[in-house]
Amino acid sequence: MTNINHNNFEIQSQPEPGLESKMIPKPDDGSSNYNGHKKLVGKKALITGGDSGIGRAVAIAFAHEGADIVINYLPEEESDAQEVKQIVEKIGGNIHLIPGDLKSEKFNHNLVEQAVKLLGHIDILALIAGKQQSIEQIDDLTTQQLIDTYTTNVFSLVWLIKAAKPYISRGGSIITTSSLQADRPSSFLIDYAGTKSAIRNMTISLAQQFSDYGIRVNCVAPGPTWTALQVAGGRPIEQLPSFGKNTILNRAGQPREIATAYVYLASNESSFINGECIKVNGGLT
Ligand code: NAD
Ligand code: MG
Repeated sequence: MTNINHNNFEIQSQPEPGLESKMIPKPDDGSSNYNGHKKLVGKKALITGGDSGIGRAVAIAFAHEGADIVINYLPEEESDAQEVKQIVEKIGGNIHLIPGDLKSEKFNHNLVEQAVKLLGHIDILALIAGKQQSIEQIDDLTTQQLIDTYTTNVFSLVWLIKAAKPYISRGGSIITTSSLQADRPSSFLIDYAGTKSAIRNMTISLAQQFSDYGIRVNCVAPGPTWTALQVAGGRPIEQLPSFGKNTILNRAGQPREIATAYVYLASNESSFINGECIKVNGGLT
């Protein structure tokens, strides 16, 4: 179990994209309690959204499992990314930081080029970056938000996978990030929920294509998880004290508890799982 009291999140808010270092309480990223079992020794992983939340916990877990990693994040999240670097280097892991905005098609190509220069090739592509901004009414959903949410969550997925395809080795694993929102869309997440449904669907198409190259494509669909996204406009702030209470476990998840699904899908232990979606949501289907 994790040591955070999940039923008492305080009302708090930050400008998007939010910093994990400013959250109260700080999410459980696994840095003090993740036990690696050498499941990813020698593997090279590119992780988007690796500075905070689920992506940070995945970066820390992958490093504990022996992978060399590159993380991407937005430039304004540099301080969170530096924390991840320190955590990973403290356990003897190999990590590189590449900031940049995935809304730019060109940057997606640059990111892959830089990552391949640093890592040599890619075994694991974990697409975890995501944009979520709540709106009360459809009238409040601006065209700019619509474009930004779809560009970040859907377009960049295609751009990044396309750019990385020549460098992903046989036996490789691509992992996308959907959401409970794909099954149970909230009224205040019209644009975001739609992107998460698209990602689930695209994962199945991609899995069929990439099987020709010996590469599996799967997705993880987290339920309510305590991350910066949630306090930086991702949901109405008055909902924070009850965040996650609608799960069967009656609490929100912690990033460390989601990261283990990515480890499983990245490792050879899941070698016969393809086009699948692992729901990690405390029992909320
Ligand atoms: P988070 O804010 O900690 O992580 C999201 C990351 O996305 C940011 O750290 C940022 O680096 C990255 N990002 C956003 N826009 C970007 C851009 N334009 N360019 C580059 N990077 C960008 O929050 P999180 O909850 O850990 O989110 C990780 C993923 O999990 C997202 O895809 C989110 O949709 C998904 N998810 C989260 C929850 C939840 O309850 N927290 C539930 C279901 C799915
Ligand atoms: Mg962040």
